[in-house]
Amino acid sequence: EAKAQGKNTFAIYQEQMSQHVSARLQMEKHLRNALSNNEMYLCYQPKMEITTGKIIGVEALLRWRNPELGLVPPNVFIPIAEETRIILPISHWVVDQTVKQLKSWRNTPFQDLSIAINISSSQFSAEGFITNLATKMQEADVPNRLLEIELTESTVMTNADTNIKLLRELRKLGFELAVDDFGTGYSSLSYLKRFPLSILKIDKSFIDGLPMDEEDISISEAILHLAHNLNVRVVAEGVETLKQLNFLEERQCEYIQGFVISKPLKSDDLEVWLTEHAENFYQSATYRALRN
Ligand code: C2E
Ligand code: MG
Ligand code: MG
Ligand code: MG
Repeated sequence: EAKAQGKNTFAIYQEQMSQHVSARLQMEKHLRNALSNNEMYLCYQPKMEITTGKIIGVEALLRWRNPELGLVPPNVFIPIAEETRIILPISHWVVDQTVKQLKSWRNTPFQDLSIAINISSSQFSAEGFITNLATKMQEADVPNRLLEIELTESTVMTNADTNIKLLRELRKLGFELAVDDFGTGYSSLSYLKRFPLSILKIDKSFIDGLPMDEEDISISEAILHLAHNLNVRVVAEGVETLKQLNFLEERQCEYIQGFVISKPLKSDDLEVWLTEHAENFYQSATYRALRN
């Protein structure tokens, strides 16, 4: 009886496994053709300077809509793209799109906006990464300071010694460097001061519990102290409420990004949104609505 049940359970498990494997292979197949089929696009999420309410930049976030699979979240397809190295052509495309966007904003009201891009580990360590970036920016005649490179803690910490050299080179060229999802990895704090970083992004998971949760309060305050002592500016990610915004403002957090300001928007919608919030965010109808 028990044995039969065990076997049964295993058979179900096997079936689920093979379904899982074939779904994943299916996705991989679609992913290989995603760029050539024009299925990818970028959305941009505004980033606000807390003291002034000015929108100072945006983060480019990759989107993939496949006719069969629908909209696949980056947290699902990026890891697969990484494992299969499909991430390399995709990353090149992201850089090209971003540079194009920055170029199209030259001599417009948006010309001082920076764009942050997420750089995967294999992209960062790929031969010629920096040269490619610098060449494309130069060809487009866009100042490097308008491009911000977001790396995760684990990307930075793996091969730390090699990476420090790459990071120094990027900084020397004028690119901004941000550590994404800060607090979720295991950064050695003593290493942190050796990295030429400009920005730390506090992970959303520590923002969620603000302003009530004791642990989230301690962690976010500690990160802010640490960053400010190292002369690094801080972005709080995933800010959704006015209470969270106030908490961060009181603790001199420099920037916020999150649904309280705006969701990620397609390029056209972004420009409309930016125009509506051109004065500063606190003067906008969006902010008035939040306060009511
Ligand atoms: P990330 O770089 O940490 O990006 C922030 C994520 O939080 C984005 O999810 C964004 O849409 C979401 N978010 C922002 N504000 C809020 C908020 O207030 N509430 C909630 N619930 N979510 C918020 P998204 O776009 O799904 O991207 C997920 C991750 O995928 C990114 O995390 C990044 O690690 C990766 N990713 C996205 N685009 C690229 C890319 O072009 N290249 C690479 N290598 N990775 C990318
Ligand atoms: Mg990011
Ligand atoms: Mg993040
Ligand atoms: Mg994340």
